[in-house]
Amino acid sequence: MSDLVDLLREGLPAAAVVTDPDVTAAYRQDMAGFCASGNPAVLVFPDTVDQVRHVMRTATALRVPVVPQGARTGLSGAANAVDGCILLSLVRMNRILEIDPVNRIAVVEPGVVNAALSQAVGVHGLTYPPDPSSWETCTIGGNIGTASGGLCCVKYGTTSEYVIGLDVVLADGELLRTGRRTAKGVAGYDLTRLLVGSEGSLGVVVGATLALRPSPPPQLALAAEFPSTDTACAAVCAVMEAGYTPSLMELMDTVSVRAVNSMAQMGLPDSTAALLLIAFDTLDPVADLAAAGEICAAHGATEVVPAADSAESELLLQARRLSLTAMDTLGTTMVDDVAVPRSALAAMINGVAEIAERFDLTIGVVAHAGDGNTHPVVVFDAADPEETARARESFDAIMALGLELGGTITGEHGVGLLKREWLAREIGPVGLELQRRVKAAFDPLGLLNPGKVF
Ligand SMILES: Cc1cc2nc3c(=O)[nH]c(=O)nc-3n(C[C@H](O)[C@H](O)[C@H](O)COP(=O)(O)OP(=O)(O)OC[C@H]3O[C@@H](n4cnc5c(N)ncnc54)[C@H](O)[C@@H]3O)c2cc1C
Repeated sequence: MSDLVDLLREGLPAAAVVTDPDVTAAYRQDMAGFCASGNPAVLVFPDTVDQVRHVMRTATALRVPVVPQGARTGLSGAANAVDGCILLSLVRMNRILEIDPVNRIAVVEPGVVNAALSQAVGVHGLTYPPDPSSWETCTIGGNIGTASGGLCCVKYGTTSEYVIGLDVVLADGELLRTGRRTAKGVAGYDLTRLLVGSEGSLGVVVGATLALRPSPPPQLALAAEFPSTDTACAAVCAVMEAGYTPSLMELMDTVSVRAVNSMAQMGLPDSTAALLLIAFDTLDPVADLAAAGEICAAHGATEVVPAADSAESELLLQARRLSLTAMDTLGTTMVDDVAVPRSALAAMINGVAEIAERFDLTIGVVAHAGDGNTHPVVVFDAADPEETARARESFDAIMALGLELGGTITGEHGVGLLKREWLAREIGPVGLELQRRVKAAFDPLGLLNPGKVF
C-alpha cells in the first residue's frame, strides 16, 4: 500500500493522491442500487494525460486494479470500487480544448460535464446532441464509458454516433489515438466504436473528438394524457409510422407523474394512466405538433395540451428529467433499462405491470418511448430482506421479459455489475468468448475495471 502511494506521488501532485478513508469511501459507488463495492487503496485526481499514464504504469508495475470514474451518476455499478484498487477520477481533466465550427467538431477532456459542453458549443450555433437526463452532472468520459443515450436520441441517436476519435491511455500506460477529425474515415478496425460503451474496461479515455451539429430551432412540446399505457404506446407507433421525426417522445406512467408532482409541484395531470411528451424541433413545429396531437387524440388521448412556447416546453422536459430522482423519494429504487423494438413497447410495459403485481411491489415506468427504451423503477424497502429479495427477482424478471420480446437488457446504462450474469444470455457463448479475447488484447493483466461487464 505505501509502495503504491509513494510511487503514485512520484508522478502526481501530493494533493491529487488521496488516502483519507472518509474521502475514498465517498467515491466507492455510483448511483446503482444492489451493487457491492470494495475498499479502494487510493483515490487519484490526475490533471494531465501524462499523470494518467503514470497512474497506469504504476498500476501495471504493481499489478493493482484501476477503476476509472467520471461523476459516478452511472446506474449499473460500473464505476464502483473493487478491493485494493486505484480509483482514477477524471473529473479534474475538464477542459474544452477546441471548438471548430468549420469541421463541426469539439475536442474535450473526459471530465467536461455534458451540459457545460452543450452551452459552450451553443455559443457557436452548434449542438452536441446526446443529452442524458443527468446532463448537468455527468461527464463526457462517463457518457463515452456507457455510450449514453438521452431524451433526444429518438431523432439524433446516442453518444456512439458522435464520438469520432479518442485518446486513450492503455493498461500499460501507452497512449492510443483512435479515429479521426474528418467527416469520413474507414482506416482499419473501428476501435473508437469499440471503446465507446466499454465501461472503463479497455482503456482510460483522456481526450475525445466529438462531432457537432448545427443548433436546431428551439423545440416545442405537447403533453398528451392517455387512459392506458396501451393507447399511449399505440400513439407512439402511429406517430412513427406516419413518418414524423420527433426530437423527443417520452412516456411517464402514473407512479412517475405523481412522484414528480409531489417532489417538485409541477402540476402534471396525476390521474392519467400514461403521459406522453412529444416534441419537434423542425422548421414548422406547430404544424408537426398539431399533426402528432391529432394522432394522439385518434388513439384515445383524453387531453392533448401543446406548450405555448419553448419555455413551457422546457418545463415539461424538466418534469421528465426529474422523474428518476423523484422516484427515489418513494423508497430505495433499482432502475432497469430494458429496450425493446418500438412495436413491442406496450407488451413490455404491460408485462412490467404484471411483474409488479406478481411480486407485490411498486414499479413505476418512465420510457424513452420513441426508442422503445423503458426504465422500470422497482421501489422497495432496503431494510426488509424479504422485500429486497423480491425486488431483485422482479428486476431480473423484467430483463427476461425484455429478451423474450426481442430486446436488450440495457439500452443505455451499461452492464456494469448489475447485469453481468445477463450479458451471456443476451449475446451467447460465442459472442462472450470473443469479447473476453478482445478484453485480454487490450488489458492482458485484467487490471482495468475488473469484475465489470463479464
Ligand atoms: C437522475 C439520473 C438520470 C439519468 N439519465 C440518463 C439518461 O437519460 N440516459 C443515460 O444514458 N444515462 C442516464 N443516467 C445514467 C448516467 O448518468 C450515465 O450513464 C452517464 O453517462 C454516466 O456518466 P458519469 O460521468 O457519471 O460516469 P460514471 O458513472 O462515473 O462512469 C460510468 C462508466 O464509465 C467509465 N468511465 C468514466 N470515465 C471514464 C474515462 N475517462 N475513461 C474510461 N472509462 C470511463 C466508468 O468506469 C464506468 O464504467 C442517469 C443517471 C441519473 C442518476
